[in-house]
Amino acid sequence: MPADVWDEFSQEIFELDTLAGIGGLLGWDQQVFMPSGSAGGRAQQSELIGRLYHERSTSTRLGALIEAVAALPKLTLEQQAGVRNMRRLYARAVRVPSELASRIANASASGVAAWGEAKKDKNYRRFSESLQTNLDLALERATAIDPNRHPYDVLLEDYDPGTTVKDLRLMFGTLQKGLTLIRQQALGRQGSCAFDEKFEISKQLALHQDVIRAVGYDTTQGALHEAEHPFSCRVGSSDVRIATHVHERDLLSGLAATMHEMGHALYEQGIPQGQGGSAVFAATSTGMHESQSRLWENMIGRSRAFYRWLQPMVARHFPGRTFDPERVFQSSTRVTSGSIRVFADEISYNLHIILRFELELALFEKRITVEEIPAEWARLSEAFLGVRPGDDAEGALQDAHWAGGAFGYFPSYTLGNLYAASLFAVLCECFPDLEHRIEQGDFAPIVNVLRERIHRQGHLYETPDLLRKAVGDRDHVADLLSYLRERYTDS
Ligand SMILES: [Zn+2]
Repeated sequence: MPADVWDEFSQEIFELDTLAGIGGLLGWDQQVFMPSGSAGGRAQQSELIGRLYHERSTSTRLGALIEAVAALPKLTLEQQAGVRNMRRLYARAVRVPSELASRIANASASGVAAWGEAKKDKNYRRFSESLQTNLDLALERATAIDPNRHPYDVLLEDYDPGTTVKDLRLMFGTLQKGLTLIRQQALGRQGSCAFDEKFEISKQLALHQDVIRAVGYDTTQGALHEAEHPFSCRVGSSDVRIATHVHERDLLSGLAATMHEMGHALYEQGIPQGQGGSAVFAATSTGMHESQSRLWENMIGRSRAFYRWLQPMVARHFPGRTFDPERVFQSSTRVTSGSIRVFADEISYNLHIILRFELELALFEKRITVEEIPAEWARLSEAFLGVRPGDDAEGALQDAHWAGGAFGYFPSYTLGNLYAASLFAVLCECFPDLEHRIEQGDFAPIVNVLRERIHRQGHLYETPDLLRKAVGDRDHVADLLSYLRERYTDS
C-alpha cells in the first residue's frame, strides 16, 4: 500500500469540498447579486458543479481510497473520525442507483414549482400529486440505503446521524406536555409590537454589521448582505457569508434573522482546517448547527441584557428613536396564536415542529395518506396550537421542505433548540455574571466556550457524544422547558 494514500484521500476530500464551495458561491450570488435575467445560465453552471460533485463523491476511486486509508495502521483519532464520516457519506450515496438519484432531483425541482403555484392558489390539491411522488421516492431511497431499518431513521441520518424515531418520540412527548403548560400560562401576558414605525433598511443593515462584528464574526473572511430569504453559506474554510432579510416596519425580525445566520456562520468560522481533511473538519449535524444559530438568535439575542447593550447602538444609527430595552423584551416574548411556523414564538415554534414530525412519521408508517394531510394538519394544529389554518397556504403549504423532498429535516430545528438550551445552561454555569457580560458587550468569552466545546471539535464525535462532552449528562428537554418557563412566565 502506498505510504501517501492518506495524502491522496485528503486531496480528494479537499477537492470535493472545493466543488461544494463553488456550488455554494453560485447559490449565494444567485440569491444576493445575480441579475434577474441570468437564471438560465446560472442553472446550467450549478447543474454542472452538482453533477461533478455527485460523480466524484460516488466514484469507485473514492470508495477504494476510503477502504485503503481505513486499513492503514495507527490512525489518529482525527483520521479515524474522517474515515468513519466519509464511509457513511459514501455508502449512502452509492447505494442509491443514479437513475433513482436523477428521478429524485427532477421530482424535487418540479415539486418546488408545483408547490409555488399551489401556495399562490391556496390549493393543496394542486400539490398533492407532487408530494406523493416525493414521498414515494424518499421511501424508495431509504429502502435502497438500508431496507432493514425504519425508513424515517434512515432519512434522519441525512441531517442528524445518531438520532432515531425512538429518541424523538421520547423527547418530543415530554416536551409537548411541558410546552403546552407553559404556553397556557404565558398566553395571558401579551405585549404590543414595540416598533410599528419605519426603520430605514440601509441603516438597519449598518446596525447589523456593527452587531455581528462586536459579537465576533470575522468580516475579513465573510460578508453580510441582503436577500429575499435569510441564509448562511460556506464558500470555503476562509469564506463564510451571511444573507439576511430586513423589514422596514419590524426592527426585531431582521435582527433575529441576522443573529440566527451569524450563529451558523460563527460555527463554520470556528471549525479548524487540518491534516484530517474536511471529512472531520465539518459541522457535526444539522441539529448542532441549528443549536448555534438559536443560541445567538434567542437565548442571547432576545435577552434583556442584549437589548440593553443594543440600546446605544440603535440610538447611534437611528437618532431620536425610542428603544426601551424592557419594552422590546416584552415585545419579543410575545406568545403568538398564528398558524405559521416562521412567525411563531419560541414556545409555539417547537409545537409546530412536533406537528410536522407527527405528520411525517404517520406518512412514512402509512397511517395516513397524502390526501388526508390538510384535515390531519388542521386537527393537530387545533390540538397543539388552538388554531386551525385559515387556508392551505397557512397550513400544509406554508413550508417548502416537502416540496423539495426533504423529509426528516424538521426535527433538526427543535433538536437545535434543545441543544442550545443545554449549552446556554452551561454558559450560565461558566459565567455567573453572564447577563452583565452580555450587557457590556463582552461576547468573546462566550464565543470561546462555544469554540472550545463545539466548533473546534468539528465532526470528530457524533452529535450525542459531542454534546455529552460539551454539556455533560444534562436533560435537554428539562433545560429547554426551564429556559422557556423563566423567560415567558417568570419575567
Ligand atoms: Zn438555521
